Amino acid sequence: MSFWKKLFGSSSSKPTASHPASTSQFTAVSQTSLQIPGSEFAKRAANGPAWSRLPIMSIPPIITELNAQMERLNVPSDAFHDFYNNSLLGVCPKCNEYCAGKAFLRMPMLASGGGRVLFTGNSGGFERMLQGTCLNHSCSSTEFDLFWCPDLDPRMLQNLRGRGINLDPNIQRTRDHLWRPQVGR
Ligand SMILES: [Zn+2]
Repeated sequence: MSFWKKLFGSSSSKPTASHPASTSQFTAVSQTSLQIPGSEFAKRAANGPAWSRLPIMSIPPIITELNAQMERLNVPSDAFHDFYNNSLLGVCPKCNEYCAGKAFLRMPMLASGGGRVLFTGNSGGFERMLQGTCLNHSCSSTEFDLFWCPDLDPRMLQNLRGRGINLDPNIQRTRDHLWRPQVGR
């Protein structure tokens, strides 16, 4: 009826376009050929460097298995903390956020606590890992790359360098007294 009504009355409905980001799943062959199934991770780690891409939810039992392997090799469990921190590395295949070994060492204990674990202070998003998601709050990955002693394999070192993670290639000397890679396994 009125001019103004006509001019401003029509509500323009913008179509809400959603463009879900297509996630590319391209992985270099040289990387995937190095990866082993999670079921072999602990056994392989007992002898030398290992790399598995795993659902985050499946990590706690693998850590328990790894502990058992190391105990079998007479690594004293009170040395695990520093030993794992220098040997075990978790890296997100999507965002390359990483997490050092001592956090994983606590994972089986925390995971068995179910949802009743209370985090105090800065947990660094680790509670997200227990729910099966990357610790990076803006990442939705449910997988993680688990590395054991990647410093001993130049190809793993190179892969990590490409993802912005530089490791000390001489870290083995800090664990020589506890564990050495087996030759000719
Ligand atoms: Zn991530």
